[in-house]
Amino acid sequence: MDDLKFGTRNKRGDWAPSAHAEIAPFWAWPPQISKVLKWLVGYIWPWNAFHMATTLLYWYYIIPGVETMKTLSWDWALWLYAVNGVGIFIMYGAIEFFYYFKRRQGSRFKYNAKFPADNPSDVFWFKSQNIDNFLRTYVFGISMWTLVEVLMLWAFANGYAPWLSWSEHPLYLAFLVFIAPAIHDTYFFFIHRAIHWPPLYKWVHSVHHNSINPSPWSSLSMHPVETFIYHGVAFLHLIIPSNPIIGLFQLHLAGYGAVNGHIGFDKLELTEGTTLDSHAYLHYLHHKYFEVNYGGDGLVPLDKWFGTWHDGSKQSQAQMEARFEQKVARMNAKKN
Ligand SMILES: [Zn+2]
Ligand SMILES: [Zn+2]
Repeated sequence: MDDLKFGTRNKRGDWAPSAHAEIAPFWAWPPQISKVLKWLVGYIWPWNAFHMATTLLYWYYIIPGVETMKTLSWDWALWLYAVNGVGIFIMYGAIEFFYYFKRRQGSRFKYNAKFPADNPSDVFWFKSQNIDNFLRTYVFGISMWTLVEVLMLWAFANGYAPWLSWSEHPLYLAFLVFIAPAIHDTYFFFIHRAIHWPPLYKWVHSVHHNSINPSPWSSLSMHPVETFIYHGVAFLHLIIPSNPIIGLFQLHLAGYGAVNGHIGFDKLELTEGTTLDSHAYLHYLHHKYFEVNYGGDGLVPLDKWFGTWHDGSKQSQAQMEARFEQKVARMNAKKN
């Protein structure tokens, strides 16, 4: 597929989309119904539908019975770790294998023309972004995800949190499912903004930012403190009246959904004529420029409201540069 029909390529070979990112259309007034309906389809299909499908598979085939989950034990904790590990290996590994190892579409639609495997760096374990990110994903990422999962399910099983039933509260619970991605984006924006505070950045978040050119294995490659807090979004379902399936869905949006920002390609070519949108551009810009796009891709436009939105346009670029200049000026003024 000709990626230059959808974007431009610079001298370095980096590709950028011509269309600028937009916030979700329901924030606009007056509402444009056709735009909202089109957006709604993309909101559900395919990514959030996929996360709901894995959630249901887990609930019916993987998650132990309530009696088992009343007691914390290594047995079911390690079982969940193994399933999460295999699930991530299949999902992230498939993208890595076809698009980074086999390079089936070369660098078409690729934001950064370089591939991490071709660029060894001292910041990574074994000088390899792939090995470093893969190991951190399994040692810290999936273990903290599983810890949050076990604690959440254990709390529900013991009645420590309000467990609403689907038969009594179908509309409220359906609404919670529907807004779970918005809960994710809002929570992620604030914790992410907090770990960009210099002392926390240095201690915690810099690990994730070692990957300036992120690839699928970068998604959960984080400091253990970060990955615990990141997945901790599921604990909100112990506070608001909810249901463990929705807590699990929230967790899958975080764990499986982390890959979206780190695919590195704007579109994955599935067949000659079909592509899959990655929704990765805004978070790619975050990895490139650090202090923009702390949140998701405009579902809850917190970056827009806080002045850190970068939609890929020249105007956003100029605003960001002006902000950086002001920051440098402030720092110099403090020094004098
Ligand atoms: Zn990231
Ligand atoms: Zn960051």
